[in-house]
Amino acid sequence: MAKKDDYWKDDVLFCVRELCAEHGSRTFTMAQLFAFCGNKLRKMHPGNNTPRDKIRQKLQLLRKEKKLSFVNNRGTYTYREQLLLPGEVDDEKIGEVFKSRPERREYVMETFARDRGWVREAKNAFGHQCMVSNCGLTFRTASNKPYIEVHHIIPLFEGGEDGVWNLSVLCAHHHRMAHFAIPKVRGELGKFLAAENKKILRKKGRANA
Ligand SMILES: [Zn+2]
Ligand SMILES: [Zn+2]
Repeated sequence: MAKKDDYWKDDVLFCVRELCAEHGSRTFTMAQLFAFCGNKLRKMHPGNNTPRDKIRQKLQLLRKEKKLSFVNNRGTYTYREQLLLPGEVDDEKIGEVFKSRPERREYVMETFARDRGWVREAKNAFGHQCMVSNCGLTFRTASNKPYIEVHHIIPLFEGGEDGVWNLSVLCAHHHRMAHFAIPKVRGELGKFLAAENKKILRKKGRANA
């Protein structure tokens, strides 16, 4: 019995990895996961009539093992293990100095992630101007596109998610500040971005309604 259950857990984890790689995001909902692999898991485990319950139960277990986290009761999970998604930089390239410092790794990962789903989502929601008031440091690249970086307000390594509610757009200067300034400045900038994020999303919600 226990053995069968172990297979379930491995199979669910495998599907989580596939889903993340396909969506280019570490954050997903139970509904997305079920839509993505419910049929496949049903075929792999023909004796089970309630795959949805089983998946939910295995997701719980994976949370306990810290392979997944469940944040803010939004019904979304974030995949925590090392996994290279399209557009992410691998540790080899980042170098030894970054390995022991998750905030640096996250900064580098965000800065080079151009073709990821959550990057597009953030740019759609917040545009291409640095969210810091009156900043104006956004510049145009050689291909005449505005250059902007997408930043996680609560870092992934501290339980943040790839969802638009946790994202912001910053110029290169303010992005570095958000990661590497003294704690007081980082804290103030984080609070400012969280408020700005809410304000913009609320406005958008109203505009759409
Ligand atoms: Zn960042
Ligand atoms: Zn800026």
